[in-house]
Amino acid sequence: MPLIMMSGFPASGKTTRANQIRDYFNSKIAELSPTDSRIARLKVHVVSDEGLGISKEVYREARPEKDARATFYGAVKRLLSANDIVIADGMNYIKGYRYQLHCESKALLTPSCVVYVGTPAEKCKEWNVARDSEGKEGEGDGEGKAGVVKEKSREAYAPDVLDNLVFRYEEPNGMTRWDSPLFIVPWMDEDIPGEEIWNAMVNNEAVKPHLAT
Ligand code: ADP
Ligand code: MG
Repeated sequence: MPLIMMSGFPASGKTTRANQIRDYFNSKIAELSPTDSRIARLKVHVVSDEGLGISKEVYREARPEKDARATFYGAVKRLLSANDIVIADGMNYIKGYRYQLHCESKALLTPSCVVYVGTPAEKCKEWNVARDSEGKEGEGDGEGKAGVVKEKSREAYAPDVLDNLVFRYEEPNGMTRWDSPLFIVPWMDEDIPGEEIWNAMVNNEAVKPHLAT
């Protein structure tokens, strides 16, 4: 089933948005399962850098970064199947990497999309610092006018690592096969465009004939 690639600067809210998409998809599955056996078989997985124990220090050198990308890639690839929806939360800052993952889903005749978490670098730096203190004190200040529930106790990026990743970031381009369809989530939005993503990934008529029965 579909591959959803989260992309954005470090500390832009990728994990926060990935969790919102997972929750939206799980509620759709719960709602539709009783009457649709195809939907009842679906399972949502989030593969994240944090979940795989990938340190935010790997970006300092080419070798550990390459290994981390390979680990992440392998984890996504293992989960991709006819009945699994995979949300790839992390490592999608390089165009060629998104291209490769797109090809993996295409090989399984499943769709992919990119969710671009559009948060300006200055905001990311703010949120990165706030996250650091959340981790230490165990509670946030409720900041975020969007009302997004803050995810706690996650390690922050070192400032120079964050700057470096912002510098190297390759913005998605919805005109390319591997970055489309492209969904953009502005930082101040409370919600993700859940229904649009669901329709593109699950209710896509072109997709249905390929699903396992
Ligand atoms: P990433 O996964 O891209 O590194 P996170 O989702 O972990 O980013 O978010 C980084 C920090 O910013 C977290 O402390 C999170 O709670 C906060 N955050 C994320 N999105 C928002 C938002 N829309 N408004 C306010 N704070 C946010
Ligand atoms: Mg994250």
